Amino acid sequence: MARRKKVYEGKAKILYEGPEPGTLVQYFKDDATAFNAEKKATIDGKGVLNNRLSEFFMSGLNAVGVPTHFIRRINMREQLIRAVEIIPLEVVVRNVAAGSISKRLGIEEGTPLPRPIVEFYFKNDELGDPMVSEEHIIAFGWATQQDLDDMVSLALRVNDFLSGLMLGVGIKLVDFKIEIGRIWDGDYMRLIVADEISPDSCRLWDIESGRKLDKDVFRRDLGDLADAYTEVARRLGVMPTGPQGAVKPTLIN
Ligand code: UDP
Repeated sequence: MARRKKVYEGKAKILYEGPEPGTLVQYFKDDATAFNAEKKATIDGKGVLNNRLSEFFMSGLNAVGVPTHFIRRINMREQLIRAVEIIPLEVVVRNVAAGSISKRLGIEEGTPLPRPIVEFYFKNDELGDPMVSEEHIIAFGWATQQDLDDMVSLALRVNDFLSGLMLGVGIKLVDFKIEIGRIWDGDYMRLIVADEISPDSCRLWDIESGRKLDKDVFRRDLGDLADAYTEVARRLGVMPTGPQGAVKPTLIN
């Protein structure tokens, strides 16, 4: 049988040609990287968890009218998505200071921000994804002013949706990153949420204990990453549960 065509391989995911034009298959790997891939590991079950969690968030967004690339999950590690033209920006929304904003501006981690702050980073591994302003984005033609307005609006809608969802299960959404892509309906272009939404791209803190339930567990060596992601999935009712609660999905590839 002919092997399907690989379209792109990134640090945590692989994209294959989809079954119909305009679709792709997104495969979630178990690989974890941090600090621009200087730190690497394979974490059993991470891909399975992120596939399920990204499905959960993206299908929820679709259901409330925030368009995403997600079509349907195919199996434990793969989902069918719409092919988009990715805008080369990482869009970060912050509710609470942590990570780079704390370092850059000297704000203590955990300080609530006066309002959600949207930031843009240019997607370029060689340069370490530098932060850019709207001026840079427009001057270099990565997006138009209209695109930027739409991106901020999409990012804030995602923030409202995810914050509420997390609050409901005792988790604070500190910050997150999304990527946005263009799709064409005839002559009309629309922006939709693409890539993934998972604990790899969010900061999630338990409201009671402050325990970190996101990729900082890996970045800062705070414990077992799969345990943290399993806890998020369990609280959201995402993973299939056995008699002991959520099952850590380490057995099936
Ligand atoms: N983030 C991400 N990919 C990146 C950079 C950041 O998913 O390449 C996420 C990160 O997990 C966090 C948010 O974006 O939820 C803000 O990250 P920050 O700018 O604080 O960067 P970091 O501390 O990761 O350097």
